[in-house]
Amino acid sequence: MDFNLNYLLNFPYVTILSCQQQEELIILKLDFLNEGISCPHCQTYTDNLHQNRPILVRDLSILGQPVYLKVPRRQFICPNCGKYPTEILEWIEPRRNYTKRYEEYIYERVKELTVEQVSRTEKLSPEQVQNIFSRKADQKKRLVNARKTKLR
Ligand SMILES: [Zn+2]
Repeated sequence: MDFNLNYLLNFPYVTILSCQQQEELIILKLDFLNEGISCPHCQTYTDNLHQNRPILVRDLSILGQPVYLKVPRRQFICPNCGKYPTEILEWIEPRRNYTKRYEEYIYERVKELTVEQVSRTEKLSPEQVQNIFSRKADQKKRLVNARKTKLR
C-alpha cells in the first residue's frame, strides 16, 4: 500500500521514524528533515547542534488510541551572536507538552462536556484538562480584546 503517515501528521520538515504501541498508547518517534535553523535573535543560519533532549507531546488520538509524539528538542549554537537558540516549532507552543491542535481540541470538548468527562475519555488528569482549557480561554480573550483595540 502506497501510504504515508507523514502526510497525515502534516507538520513541516517532520518525518516519522518509528511507531510503537505501549499499553493502549501509540508513540510516534519523530525526526526533522531540516538540519539547522535560522537563529531567532540574528537570523543567521546554524546547523551547529548543542544538544537534543526529546520530549513527549500529546497529539490527537488515532482510531481511539491516545497518541504521544516523541519530539526531538534541538538547541543550536549561533556562530554569529553566540546565543543558544532552541528550535521553534510552529505546532507546539514553547514549554508545552501538547500540540496546538490537541489543546484546541480539548478546549472545544470542555465547552461541550465537563472537565471530568474530558479527563476520563482523554486519560488526562482533571488538572491537565483545566489547565489547557483556562490557557486557551485566556488566549482567545486576549485575541478578541486586541481586535477590539485595533477597531477603536
Ligand atoms: Zn544568532
